Amino acid sequence: MVAKALIYVENVQMTKLLAPLVLILLVLSPLSAHARDFENVVIDPGHGGYDYGLLVDGKREKDIALNIAKKLRQFLNEQGKMAYLTRSVDRHLSFDDRRELSDKHTPEVLVSIHLSDTDSAVVYVTWYKNLEADLSLDEYYSLDSRQRRYLYESRILAGSVGDSLGSEFGMNVLYGELPLPLLSTAGEPAILVELPSKGINYDDDTMQRFAYSIGIGLILYGQQ
Ligand SMILES: [Zn+2]
Repeated sequence: MVAKALIYVENVQMTKLLAPLVLILLVLSPLSAHARDFENVVIDPGHGGYDYGLLVDGKREKDIALNIAKKLRQFLNEQGKMAYLTRSVDRHLSFDDRRELSDKHTPEVLVSIHLSDTDSAVVYVTWYKNLEADLSLDEYYSLDSRQRRYLYESRILAGSVGDSLGSEFGMNVLYGELPLPLLSTAGEPAILVELPSKGINYDDDTMQRFAYSIGIGLILYGQQ
């Protein structure tokens, strides 16, 4: 939480005004061993309802994503974390639904789960057309800009989850940036994980391993 507050302050261009306050807060706050430690995760299983996503050996991306999301929730609960799903049943959600359902839980981390159409995993963070632009205060505080102040943290998060997937499965992990609305509007570190669809048999054990390795990546992120 301390790290989050600092990033926020640095970006608001009010550093001079707030610096004394930050110093006081730092002195008063008990020093956390892990500044990125989190309590509360939202997991977003991609697709749902009439939107099947990819078809993999007769299995549907929406079902695979939901199954892994539930297993990931279970794993995180066992690690003492709160974890919520944007959907826990097979139903269609609009982007606005996902945004609203996620924000309701004020998560500290957001992970969206999808499949890629390759044999690699791909971990995405959001992309902004003009990251260096000076934004007006209105623009800065708009929903679309929320992720700007968490971009660095999101990249650290992406690296941690990608490393974990790579070491568990020995597979190729790619990283990408895309202007994905669910990521760009996230007011917390946020990634979208695409798991490989090629060369994987999504049986129950495999989905458990994916959930476990994403979960380990999240836990290790919190310990950095
Ligand atoms: Zn998808």
